[in-house]
Amino acid sequence: MRVLGIETSCDETGVALFDTERGLVADALYSQIAMHAEYGGVVPELASRDHTRRLLPLIQQVLDEAGLARNELDAIAYTAGPGLVGALMVGASTAHGMARALKIPVLGVHHMEGHLLAPMLEDEPPDFPFVALLVSGGHTQLVEVHGLGQYRLLGESVDDAAGEAFDKTAKMLGLDYPGGPQVAKLAEAGDPGRFRFPRPMTDRPGLDFSFSGLKTHTLTAIRRLEQDGELDDQALADVARAFEEAVVDTLVIKCRRALDATGLKRLVVSGGVSANVRLRERLEVECDKRNARAYYPRGRFCTDNGAMIAYVGTQRLMAGEHDEPGIMKAVPRWPMDSLGKP
Ligand code: ATP
Ligand code: MG
Ligand code: FE
Repeated sequence: MRVLGIETSCDETGVALFDTERGLVADALYSQIAMHAEYGGVVPELASRDHTRRLLPLIQQVLDEAGLARNELDAIAYTAGPGLVGALMVGASTAHGMARALKIPVLGVHHMEGHLLAPMLEDEPPDFPFVALLVSGGHTQLVEVHGLGQYRLLGESVDDAAGEAFDKTAKMLGLDYPGGPQVAKLAEAGDPGRFRFPRPMTDRPGLDFSFSGLKTHTLTAIRRLEQDGELDDQALADVARAFEEAVVDTLVIKCRRALDATGLKRLVVSGGVSANVRLRERLEVECDKRNARAYYPRGRFCTDNGAMIAYVGTQRLMAGEHDEPGIMKAVPRWPMDSLGKP
């Protein structure tokens, strides 16, 4: 079965082709980051318009790369949510329009299920069951995963997502959007011993997160340095380092707890923040200690992409799921644990 995957939930237009016999055959991405950077964050209306401009040429590019004609597709999968509603509608309507013209099934899939299963596209994918840490721009969740659609939410952020905290901290440090990679880069030059930021919600049991207080803490630290006339490049790097250490340490502590609580030995880490090198280093050490193993997507599949949508779509389509003809789905808020087995 050959499935075209379409991702348009936020600021990346992603298209890919997954073939059950050949695996991932082609994938293409157009990132709108440069356009939104000017505004310091994603502007929803601009995002929708740009998806409209980019999507059809990207689909053609993927078909060309795969050496396939449109009528050789067996099904189409698109991101139905969660995400920006206007952006989602572009992918949903294109997918439904194409599917109707080609008389093939079409399925709206869950964006976070895409992130969750992105490591399945790697050479040594994890077996079920596993614990998953989803750390992206809009979500921070720990999930116990027993199979496709068998998800138990163990904990999540009660306020900002980890990626969002990185992005907001970047702004305070005068860095461009999206801030995660830039904060990480600046932190490399930072002295880990100069400041210690709090590890929110780690002093009590539980698997929930909170990152909004850390943002305030960072702002206060910057203001104090400014007042004392000490806000030089080194100080900014030291703040970035303290912030990164605090987020990473918090994530590591909660992963350790989740592995202990479930008794599982496999940890999947996915979503944009899973690209963070410091986080990966710390999790490797933690997993080694307890004979566990961590699994990640390759770098460019940590953030949004069409490949993860094509993959999840294929799994569910193969199990017989599809949208009602003509009923496209665009669901801005959609809890992942409401998904069932196909
Ligand atoms: P969601 O998937 O929750 O809807 P999203 O799709 O916007 O949100 P992703 O594309 O998965 O999120 O990830 C983007 C986020 O990852 C941004 O917040 C970005 O700052 C963060 N990020 C990317 N690389 C790194 C890094 N190396 N270190 C820390 N954060 C990073
Ligand atoms: Mg993005
Ligand atoms: Fe995402």
